[in-house]
Amino acid sequence: MTQANYLWAPAPVHSLPVRGSDVRLPVRRIFCVGRNYYAHAVEMGRPVDKATMSPFYFLKDASALVDSGATVPYPTGTSNYHFEMELVVAIGKPGFRVDEANAHELIYGYGAGLDMTRRDLQLIAREQGRPWDLGKNFEKSAVCTEIVPAVGAEVLNVGAIKLQVNGVTKQSADLSMLIWNVREIIADLSKFYHLEPGDLIYTGTPEGVGAVKPGDHISGHVDGVGDIVLTIGQAE
Ligand code: MN
Repeated sequence: MTQANYLWAPAPVHSLPVRGSDVRLPVRRIFCVGRNYYAHAVEMGRPVDKATMSPFYFLKDASALVDSGATVPYPTGTSNYHFEMELVVAIGKPGFRVDEANAHELIYGYGAGLDMTRRDLQLIAREQGRPWDLGKNFEKSAVCTEIVPAVGAEVLNVGAIKLQVNGVTKQSADLSMLIWNVREIIADLSKFYHLEPGDLIYTGTPEGVGAVKPGDHISGHVDGVGDIVLTIGQAE
């Protein structure tokens, strides 16, 4: 077979460590759920009524991934750089139009993630009816721990999710407070996309989001998954 020649080296495969394994999980797409905890939707000024509303999504490039433990520079173009602590689901099998009852079959494992956000740019886009990319999909904005393989048909539906900045608690909630739980999100997302191994789903953040500045140290935790840390460096 002839090997293709490229003008320059193709972009690297972005990947995450897997707990208890030497191999890494290659990441394909990063889906993020918007407004998936009631109190966070309220603090963003956009309450959610599950009876009449559907979940919505935005994406981040896999190239935005950063391993837990990193120091990231304060991003350009913002003066309101926010943390959002989230449960991350790693998809391990393909699925399209999946039933909630079978959704667990797609799950490879879980991570703890930070959906870092240029909140000022996101809100400008929101108010002007523009895409959220400048606020959400930027370099080093998707922080994630190693992936913890799921056991059997287990689906994470309960457990503490919390975040501290410089040792002060900012977010403290429970996965049971997700508006659309993991099964519901996988079933709904698979109506719109053919889910594939390596797809990640950031499931949304609880209330208490806020700004960080250079020198701040973020530490987060999801029960049954693990701890995430991120240090904010000086602006580039
Ligand atoms: Mn988020």
